[in-house]
Amino acid sequence: MYRAIEDNLTDLISTADKIRRKFKGEKVKLCSIINAKSGMCDQDCAFCGQSSYHKTKTPKYPMLDTEAIVKSAMDAERNGAAEFSIVTSGKGINSREEIGKIKRSIKRIKKETSLECCASLGVLNKDFLKELKDAGLDRYHHNLETSQSFFPQICTTRPYRENVDTIIAAKEAGLITCCGGIFGMGESQKQRIELAMTLKELDPDSIPINFLNPVKNTKLENMSLLKPLEALKIIATFRIIFPTKDIIICGGREITLQSLQPMMLLAGANGMIIGDYLTTKGRNVQDDLDMIKDLGLHNE
Ligand code: SF4
Repeated sequence: MYRAIEDNLTDLISTADKIRRKFKGEKVKLCSIINAKSGMCDQDCAFCGQSSYHKTKTPKYPMLDTEAIVKSAMDAERNGAAEFSIVTSGKGINSREEIGKIKRSIKRIKKETSLECCASLGVLNKDFLKELKDAGLDRYHHNLETSQSFFPQICTTRPYRENVDTIIAAKEAGLITCCGGIFGMGESQKQRIELAMTLKELDPDSIPINFLNPVKNTKLENMSLLKPLEALKIIATFRIIFPTKDIIICGGREITLQSLQPMMLLAGANGMIIGDYLTTKGRNVQDDLDMIKDLGLHNE
């Protein structure tokens, strides 16, 4: 099946665009994130500059205070984002002090902005996710990163099952869920479809698609970037598999898609992260807003 798709890229993109227009219309969802706690992670994710297994120049700092997180959310709203996500490094969050800061931040973001509030705090259990929901959290993000069969080559410090269970727990806690992966880490096309099938079973509300932007001194530092057309093929394939879901293009889009970047919104995507990513710089926000307008689309 994937072979047939591969041989007809323009047909694939055109089909994906029709599906995107049918279910998402002209709206583009803009998300913004803050790296609220950076580096010093005890996990060995091969792509990540925040892993303590890698000696990178990625900044290291403990959990930001509530004021800094809320200010960043307000900036995101001014920039046109509909959603703001608090992201922290590490397998999960354990300290009550950190939990308190996150809950206070969520409460203030919900009170002082009209943003949808998301968090990405690693592997969590249902009780903690319910606590966050009660504080006002709308959505929980946790990526599977890649397919189950390829995951052992990407991370050896936690089982794949814990990623899956976190999304199941978030749904049970009543949260909207966001779950996807990173492409271009050496996985096969078959493994991309394997990831899609696992996501199909998990049924998250939105699917973030990241492209590897190799970070110096990580295990994947020498990995070649995906070709722009290959990246578009992934986006279009995911739109066809997930007709009604939000497909959000995240890290690595500028460096991977290059001059074909506007095509991501004509190949099935209906959302993107604006501003900076976790450990890498993003594009100028106005350039993204102009791109959306030039395509005849508008942000939510
Ligand atoms: S991706 Fe998350 S869990 Fe993995 S090393 Fe980076 S910060 Fe840690």
